[in-house]
Amino acid sequence: MELYKLTAHELHEKLVNKEVSSVELTNALYERIDAVEDKVNAYVTLDKENALAQAAKVDAKIAAGEEIAPLAGVPGAIKDNISTKGLRTTCSSKMLSNLIPIYDAHVIKNLRADETIFLGKTNMDEFAMGSTTESSFFGATHNPWNLDRVPGGSSGGSAAAIAAGEAIWTLGSDTGGSIRQPASFNGCVGIKPTYGRVSRYGCVAFASSLDQIGPITKDVTDAALVLNTICGKDEHDSTSLNVEVPDFTKALVADVKGLRIGLPKEYFGEGLDPKVKAEIEKAVKQYEAMGAEIVEVSLPHTEYAVITYYIIAPAEASANLARFDGVRYGYRNTAATSAPEMTTMSRTEGFGAEVKRRIMLGTYVLSSGYYDAYYKKAMQVRTLIRKDFEEAFKQCDVLLTPTSPVVAYPIDGKMDPLSIYLLDVTTIPVNMAGLPGISVPCGFADGMPVGMQLIGKPLDEATILRAAYTFEQANEYHKVFAPLGGNK
Ligand code: GLN
Repeated sequence: MELYKLTAHELHEKLVNKEVSSVELTNALYERIDAVEDKVNAYVTLDKENALAQAAKVDAKIAAGEEIAPLAGVPGAIKDNISTKGLRTTCSSKMLSNLIPIYDAHVIKNLRADETIFLGKTNMDEFAMGSTTESSFFGATHNPWNLDRVPGGSSGGSAAAIAAGEAIWTLGSDTGGSIRQPASFNGCVGIKPTYGRVSRYGCVAFASSLDQIGPITKDVTDAALVLNTICGKDEHDSTSLNVEVPDFTKALVADVKGLRIGLPKEYFGEGLDPKVKAEIEKAVKQYEAMGAEIVEVSLPHTEYAVITYYIIAPAEASANLARFDGVRYGYRNTAATSAPEMTTMSRTEGFGAEVKRRIMLGTYVLSSGYYDAYYKKAMQVRTLIRKDFEEAFKQCDVLLTPTSPVVAYPIDGKMDPLSIYLLDVTTIPVNMAGLPGISVPCGFADGMPVGMQLIGKPLDEATILRAAYTFEQANEYHKVFAPLGGNK
């Protein structure tokens, strides 16, 4: 049996029924990693010894007849910008290439309490800035559906690991689409929770008002299981919300009768690949046939979302990344002869091109002469974007859009940064408004997976999970396994 092809909830059954042990399962995953990792490059760091030790503990518990949590003994992987005590956390940057954290992120603490297994840390765009995972200091990740294409980003390693069978579940982070877009490019499920649902404590900050951790999984049930473990108030993150965390598996009901699904007309216009559009339209028809009501809505400020994001996100990044100065953290140039020179050289050599581009952009828009013209204006536009969603949700319960206007494109470096930035038009507004969004596989175009995004009201992950689950139960897309084809 190919254990790596199963979901977390299927494997939980096998573990408690003693059909397989966690040690066997964990070994099976490392065998799969050994077999395909030189093609995919989904991981930055593996942690086999600790993973097997943890698996043995879970096995002992099962043998003693004790109850285990749903994710106990099930091997997953963590995006490399989430702090893991004692396990290297690099943000795929030269700057942090030797950093061993001294504390666990809140989500890691929760997952450890549930006795899950961490196989290792997954590759990403440097400091989560990007959409392709090409900017990693540790080399690009390749898309398991076609190794000559990008896996998306910035959580490209986490999504590719799921698609290639190199992990059962993974964590990503999403500032402007970095969970949903790679999930869509790799035929996975990915959910960005409502801002504040999940503590950001221990997630290396990119843009603090937008960042949110969430799961990338094979199906909607697994996404709900991971959410159950990672959500909740944390005193270390003042923006984490003190609200009740429902049991998200209760939302997994295959029924959309009477659900009002809004189609924002701005998301179906210019730039949308007709083949992607056709798959999304098929999904809409299916929802209609299953009893949902389809309404057209408008989000009139959509066209300003990407440009305001590229003011706000770099502004926050320039402040957050100021701490990497060669003194307190990370890479240091040792040839410099003065402190200012040391800091300058450490930052020049430690950061890659995209990170430096964003630090410069952010510093510029926050500088005294330009603050009002750029940063303040962008914050005002952000409010308008949020209000668009408030208006739209008066007419519907969820919004349905393509997750990305295109499928995964070739790894050839031919796309210029601006064209890549503009492709995030479907995911960025969701972060700007702090809303929950999920991407679910809904078809194929040119042999590559297409993802559908469902956006919910604040804290209403339950409704998007229900809508996603209903669609998933009526289709087989999530069961198709990536062929690892291509020329790489
Ligand atoms: N692609 C977007 C960017 O480059 C989003 C990244 C993210 O969500 N971390 O900023």
